[in-house]
Amino acid sequence: MNKNIGKTKFKRRDVLIGATALTTMGVLASCKDNVDGGTPDNPQQTASVSKNIIQWKMITCWPRDFPGGGTHSQKLAQKITEASDGRLEIKNFAAGELVPAFEVFDAVREGTAECGHAAPYYWISKHKAIPFFCTVPGGMTAFEKAAWIIYGGGQKLWDELYYDFGVKSFLCGNTGVQMGGWFQKEINSLEDFQGIKMRMPGLGAEVVNRMGGTAVNMPAGEIMPALQSGVIDAAEWVGPWNDLALGFYKVAKYYYGPGFHEGGTSNELIMNKESYEALPKDLQAIVKHACHAGAIEAPAEYFANSGLSLDVLVNKHSVDVRPFPKEVIKKMFDISKEVVEETASLGELHAKIYKSWSDFLNQSMRYQKYSDYGYMRDRSEAYGI
Ligand code: CA
Repeated sequence: MNKNIGKTKFKRRDVLIGATALTTMGVLASCKDNVDGGTPDNPQQTASVSKNIIQWKMITCWPRDFPGGGTHSQKLAQKITEASDGRLEIKNFAAGELVPAFEVFDAVREGTAECGHAAPYYWISKHKAIPFFCTVPGGMTAFEKAAWIIYGGGQKLWDELYYDFGVKSFLCGNTGVQMGGWFQKEINSLEDFQGIKMRMPGLGAEVVNRMGGTAVNMPAGEIMPALQSGVIDAAEWVGPWNDLALGFYKVAKYYYGPGFHEGGTSNELIMNKESYEALPKDLQAIVKHACHAGAIEAPAEYFANSGLSLDVLVNKHSVDVRPFPKEVIKKMFDISKEVVEETASLGELHAKIYKSWSDFLNQSMRYQKYSDYGYMRDRSEAYGI
């Protein structure tokens, strides 16, 4: 009995030291002693300081509550904090609150923030192979990308690519297939694409240029006035959920889809590598699993809301929704293949990533005839929808 009291007093002293020093290994040791059979006089007091609380800042490329990226990043921060019982406390910052949207990569690399939520293709200027982990024209769907990254060797290559930058990422979301965009005039043939000015980011821009158009890029807020004033003739943004919210139906008549350029645009949780590696193994696992849960939840939310939004666009706003003519979409994919293949010639790692990605995509296309694609084709033909 006396021995126990002595042990408890010793631990209470450790708790006080730990409270002063704000979460030290000493506290963890004393907590472990308690688990091993100690009997603290005040268990509640011990529990309140037994957590080694780690606080991370999550910077993002999104406005606060922005549907999709914004809301998913906020949920991810909350999910990791809750799943770790507050041991890894993540505070989410919208674009511009700590750093501007397009400075997330450098800020995480330099340790200004421990992590960030972004679409990796924003970092194409850092390395031309980064978009393979986000989206490239004629590329993978959300499910195919998750399969490649998690089970097809993609994560290992992503780690290799990011290693020299001092960052580490997990897949944590996806928009799903994006629409081809809003057009002021009908596209009935390849000829109709000549001279068209279209908002199109990333490698898709090069495809538009090779189709005979002129690609321009601009952020979301500038698209509406540019379409309205005739500065541009067409614009892509995301899909029905986000496009309805921005009101493009008010200024453009034709809505073409699906697009060729973003078959499934992934988001990442990008982390400072040292910060990630300093986490205990169980917190590393929580981060990874929370990200991978987001990799299915985010596209599911997009899918559910985009279906509803498409009905609203058609039934309430009388939008003319249609697929691109066969010869146009085929040309878009043909040029996409050329543009993406060219990335492989830029360097050894580019070639390695391209090979893994294209082998997996080709394998997926062979299998898809008998999987989701084949099933959905047969179902739609049978049901006439
Ligand atoms: Ca887009």
